[in-house]
Amino acid sequence: MNVYVMVDIEGISGIYSNDQTREGRWQNPEGRRCLMADINACVEGLKAGGAEKVIVHDCHGGGWMLDWEQAIPLADGYICGYVGDRRYGDLTDMDAMVLLGYHAMAGTEGAILEHTFGLDVQNMYINGEKVGETAVDAAIAGEQGVPVIMVSGDDKVCAEAKAIMPDVVTAEVKKGLTCTGGILLPPGKAHKLIYEKAKEAVEKADSIKPYVIEGPITCKMEMIERTRMFRPSCKPYMQMIDGRSFTVTADTVEEALWRAFY
Ligand SMILES: [Zn+2]
Repeated sequence: MNVYVMVDIEGISGIYSNDQTREGRWQNPEGRRCLMADINACVEGLKAGGAEKVIVHDCHGGGWMLDWEQAIPLADGYICGYVGDRRYGDLTDMDAMVLLGYHAMAGTEGAILEHTFGLDVQNMYINGEKVGETAVDAAIAGEQGVPVIMVSGDDKVCAEAKAIMPDVVTAEVKKGLTCTGGILLPPGKAHKLIYEKAKEAVEKADSIKPYVIEGPITCKMEMIERTRMFRPSCKPYMQMIDGRSFTVTADTVEEALWRAFY
């Protein structure tokens, strides 16, 4: 079994502040160490569960958050930087996906660093259902027949994942109290949990089905400010609703994601 690990940083154990997640801020070196420790625990757990190949993809911002010196040789590859106009690298030989360090959708009460693809989005809906990055990424993987087998993050994102994927394995490494604070598991406990859940996820992967949202896709975007309107007159697939809201249509969730943002 080959496993593709999508890694964001806001749901990593030990992360609770924006400064930990942004390059150049004083807490960022600490945040990057937290990120690598969760990744390493996950890779070790996946391999212990029987994964043959594990590819780790840094999907936070521009993909430059990994602390390279802490990357372990047990992983088979790390995807960093700009990957072109697909959400992921190549999934053709991948059997399962892990969403590591994910965060709850924008507006979730008491969720640590909640947002949906940047800080401009008030709400995002696909075919009428409000979605966050967990649902969107799981659906894009599902379009390629790949199931999400594990999600890690705070209690809110774990609940969000379970609501759409009841069989997914979750690793709850913290409880959100506010958007910038919570109750964090100490590193030793968090890493042990991630290791054990990753191992369990591989062992039961065959029983977990891909999460699929059937097309055609209508994606409704409600932006926080009207500035992100992206020249709608140039885009035949874009329909304005009001000064801060629009819909895009597409055949797939992946195509809808790009049409919504670019
Ligand atoms: Zn992020």
